[in-house]
Amino acid sequence: MKLPSLFTAAAVATTMSVSLQAEEVEIKTQQLSEHIHVLFGQGGNIAAHVGKDGTYIIDDQFAKLAPKIKAALKNLNPNAPEFVINTHHHGDHTGGNEVFAQSGAHVIAHHNVHKRLQQKHGEGSQYLPKLSFGQDLTLHFNGEHARAVHFAHAHTDGDAVIFFDTANVVHMGDIYFNLGSLPFVDVDSGGSVDGILAAVEQVMTQIDDSTQVIPGHGPMSNKAGLQRYYQLLSKAKSLMVAAIDEHQDLESVLAADPLGALELEYANWLPKERVTTLFYRSLTIENHGH
Ligand SMILES: [Zn+2]
Repeated sequence: MKLPSLFTAAAVATTMSVSLQAEEVEIKTQQLSEHIHVLFGQGGNIAAHVGKDGTYIIDDQFAKLAPKIKAALKNLNPNAPEFVINTHHHGDHTGGNEVFAQSGAHVIAHHNVHKRLQQKHGEGSQYLPKLSFGQDLTLHFNGEHARAVHFAHAHTDGDAVIFFDTANVVHMGDIYFNLGSLPFVDVDSGGSVDGILAAVEQVMTQIDDSTQVIPGHGPMSNKAGLQRYYQLLSKAKSLMVAAIDEHQDLESVLAADPLGALELEYANWLPKERVTTLFYRSLTIENHGH
């Protein structure tokens, strides 16, 4: 059954963006390694790689925050970023693309990010990546070989995880919501519960106990944190699968409240009913995920 969607990715970005005015947002910078810094503001976490070749960033939050992000980056290196890698197309991760492109950055992302930003902003827009890739891409810069690796149908259909092997840091994008709660599965943009689980499982095989893990949202994490997130998500999936087997239709599943057993907190823009609905849609599209 195909259900109408009440919310779109754009609506999510809007909902998250109206919570604070740009002047109220403070960009906090945390150094993770010799070359890597993480910037927390409003929207997706930004990684900045700074070194002898210059600067590049992973994600760029919202356009209105670009002046503040630029100022924070200037403290690390006076030159403007040369590349922006987007982990996916959502507006709280790509909103600064145009501004950074205008100051000389080349945007890089998966083919599906290009396709979705083209649909939203039109051909020729500076929001669009100048370089797009399929399975993976490696950026050889500042002595690091940063690998952007695509994971299919996870948070969206255009997700990339960025592995900084030399520094032992990984940026997960929104495959990892480190907020002690369940993630937003953007089913309308090709995301799926099973895809997120598969991606997290894959990433865990490629990192170790000292890897610093940058989530799309929330504070810094590590392999143990990612493991806990995986377990929570697996538990949520099995509760949902059991409820779907028992109750079949969405209304009855919502009434049964299978996720209630987890006793989690939910954000205003992503209440439990919406999470339940998205998980339901994802797991029924995929034959209950069996
Ligand atoms: Zn997202």
